[in-house]
Amino acid sequence: VPADSGASALKVGENVTLYDGRTAPIRLRILIVGCGLGGLAAAFALQKAGHECTILEQAPAIGEVGAGIQVTPNVSRILLSWGLGPQLERTAVIPQAIVFRRWQTGERVGYTRWGDLMLQDHGAPYCHIHRADFHRMLDDLASGAGVQIRLGAAVTAIDADAPAVTLRSGETLACDLLIGADGVKSMIRQVIVGAPDAPVATGDAAYRATIPTSAMLSEEDLRGFVEEPEMTAWMGPGRHIMGYCIRGKKEYNLVLLHPDDGSVESWTAEGSADKMRADFEGWEPRIQKLLGLVPSTLKWKLMDRGPLETWIHPSGRVVLLGDSCHPMLPYRAQGAAMAVEDAAVLGSLLSHISSPTQIPFFLRAYEQLRHARCTDTQAQARLNQKIFHLPDGAAQRERDEDMRQAMEAEFS
Ligand code: FAD
Repeated sequence: VPADSGASALKVGENVTLYDGRTAPIRLRILIVGCGLGGLAAAFALQKAGHECTILEQAPAIGEVGAGIQVTPNVSRILLSWGLGPQLERTAVIPQAIVFRRWQTGERVGYTRWGDLMLQDHGAPYCHIHRADFHRMLDDLASGAGVQIRLGAAVTAIDADAPAVTLRSGETLACDLLIGADGVKSMIRQVIVGAPDAPVATGDAAYRATIPTSAMLSEEDLRGFVEEPEMTAWMGPGRHIMGYCIRGKKEYNLVLLHPDDGSVESWTAEGSADKMRADFEGWEPRIQKLLGLVPSTLKWKLMDRGPLETWIHPSGRVVLLGDSCHPMLPYRAQGAAMAVEDAAVLGSLLSHISSPTQIPFFLRAYEQLRHARCTDTQAQARLNQKIFHLPDGAAQRERDEDMRQAMEAEFS
């Protein structure tokens, strides 16, 4: 860590008490743009590291979409270390396995046991959770640690050298460090890239819906999806469907991935449930039954972007996190996971800072620790798009045969 050059206006060496009782030498004023899962996780991790965090969120109220999210062990491990075990236990469903099925027949072609094996192998569970529950959990955590959350605070301009932001209201806020956690359509990313830089259409869109499981329990052939919760992935040409239980097995979450036919990138755009059923005509009978139980659906265009050379502005005081720097297809269930990992790493690094002049150094360390992993995960999500969506034919049969062999090995 480079020595303090003495150039800072901040008070150095003024011991502050950290969230966990340790003391840290300085308290940075940090502004985080975006109150998604990434922004909240970063705010908590940095507040816990002794800094003073304010989140600026353009939305007038917090409302997460009515859909599930997969919380993989790399994230649940972090959440457990943040003391969220009881909340996870209350809200998460632990799938016992992942099962891959053929689209037309429902034949099982792949199976991997999860459940306790995840705990054994990774020291943390694989969880399925409602997005609103996940968001609330992080919101309570961040607010409880002293993070200020300002809603209806849309950032319209950035001075990356100061650094400072201007809100739509005209108010200007200065800080020591500005974090862009402003999602796939990030404006802070544009400032870092220094040129117009739009999200890329992946060619796919997602329908999302939840079904009350009470309606499934009365159907002989659907009951098993609830009674022994597994995650099911049905793979078909150009499409796939993921299904799993959330909220104490009271709801069944469906995500239906298909070729985009003109949807918008929005968490709240409604889709047509009838069009969704038509789009999946010919899929196995249980899919037809499940889709028949869907009252309404959300639909959105899936966008991502290529990897950035750097996530840091040349001033060394502005940095990106989460979807703003590495948005990806949800085909590895790692978008929010990478954002929470980013947050934990940044918080951990900045708990060691002893002078504001060290900020650029720590941001470079953050980028070095995170960039390759996130870039690789983006690429793997794109690769899964090809693997899951293979057209009927030789390559698809080969994929299924590989999965069958792995499944047989699992049971032998
Ligand atoms: P966002 O959640 O997009 O938050 C950005 C926030 O910034 C928003 O609240 C926005 O209003 C605010 N904002 C933007 N601009 C401004 C501004 N100028 N001023 C103020 N505020 C602003 N990930 C997983 O880990 N597991 C999964 O199972 C999974 N499933 C998914 C399924 C689907 C269909 C999709 C689309 C995504 C899925 N993801 C999953 C990915 C995950 O949802 C995202 O990666 C994650 O939500 C990104 O969080 P974020 O905080 O970076 O961005």
